[in-house]
Amino acid sequence: MPGTTVPTEDELKEALSTLRAENPTLGIPKLHALLSSTHPDWSVSEKRTRKVVQSAGLTVAPPGGSSASRTAYPKSSVIKDLDIAKWTTKVEVRNFGKEKGKGLVAKEEIGEGDVIWKEDPWVIGPEWEIYDLQRNGRACAFCTTPLNIDSRLIVNCPDSTSASFCPGRFCSRLCLQRSAVVHPLLCPSKNPASAPLLAFARSYQWMALQALAHCTAKILLANQQDEKVLENDWKLFSSFAELGMEDRMRDLRETSAGEEFDKAAWKKAHQLIVHAFKEPPLEANKKKLAKILKKPLPDDIDTKLFDYDATLHNLGRMSLNLESHGGLYTLHSHLNHSCAPNVSVRHLDQRSALARITVIARQTILPGQELTISYVNPELPLPARRRRLGDWGFGKCTCERCLKEEKELQEKEGEMTEKEREEKRQEDELAKELKEGLGVV
Ligand SMILES: [Zn+2]
Ligand SMILES: [Zn+2]
Ligand SMILES: [Zn+2]
Repeated sequence: MPGTTVPTEDELKEALSTLRAENPTLGIPKLHALLSSTHPDWSVSEKRTRKVVQSAGLTVAPPGGSSASRTAYPKSSVIKDLDIAKWTTKVEVRNFGKEKGKGLVAKEEIGEGDVIWKEDPWVIGPEWEIYDLQRNGRACAFCTTPLNIDSRLIVNCPDSTSASFCPGRFCSRLCLQRSAVVHPLLCPSKNPASAPLLAFARSYQWMALQALAHCTAKILLANQQDEKVLENDWKLFSSFAELGMEDRMRDLRETSAGEEFDKAAWKKAHQLIVHAFKEPPLEANKKKLAKILKKPLPDDIDTKLFDYDATLHNLGRMSLNLESHGGLYTLHSHLNHSCAPNVSVRHLDQRSALARITVIARQTILPGQELTISYVNPELPLPARRRRLGDWGFGKCTCERCLKEEKELQEKEGEMTEKEREEKRQEDELAKELKEGLGVV
């Protein structure tokens, strides 16, 4: 007996999103049957289910993800109670299911060239060029904006003394105040134990490690403030999509042979994180750190920040979510990939707030359409784009452009003569044997 309650469009969408997330490959009739059994009081026709599934973009991904069984996909989770309205009213978060995770869709028509939102980073992990300017006191140690040396507003790090120097300088008092959420733990004067960690990240040009140092500092300092701040920061940090470095490296070995991966470097990075924020090896530095961190972290968060395995996962999480100029942005991190993206990200406020991003529509975006950026250089040809995405742990991209180019490629191969095909087969065979002989497969 079907139920009698007619759910609203939103209720139905929500229920179907959840079911789709748990059952990524079910066809619509089966999904409908599942809906009837999980919501026995509802009266919903299969036709209505189909309509909502299609309009909400919950249809099964096109076949062709043959690598899906092997490739690790990033895991992401939707942030509960995220107040998007503080950035924009034009988009909403949608859960596309287990494999694809979360994404952003337009709630209204967005015109070509429109600014969709502006966003300041949750954590800044600047590019090395800017990082070096900061370390020379020539860019703000908080917001990264290059300093106008003549400005009277500039303030030095108050903890810098001739005995223990910090090169940090800030645009203004405001930036200094804001920097209280991270700087104390990364300041070479206030927490000297952080210096070897940052120097190591710098020497390897390891952006993810630098960003993780910033995140760790931010979370530890949030804990010193109060529970609410910690809860909020932890919720944001743990919702960034993640992929463990081990997963990523395993895939790297399978996708692009010969890529170096360096366990020793991960071990060292982990040890330096522990030294910087938990157990400085020098007694004097231990005392300095204890002055900043008076309250211990809750055990579960402590484990998820300082365990070796957790560190690898967190590094993977940084790599996946860093904006191309460095920095982690809450809303921006929701954007999925397309090789023909419909939005672009710019740093327009170069003089006042360099780290602030502006997200702009590259074309008209209709209500219900997903907003996308490109994770790889879109100028690259199809095989190279796929390889890059594979390196990052993403499955085979099946965006419209990829499908079109794939078809063209197949047609071209179809036009080859018998002789050309045989030559190509022999070449492929030889390449395979060579690889095997070198032990790179
Ligand atoms: Zn500043
Ligand atoms: Zn300082
Ligand atoms: Zn694509």
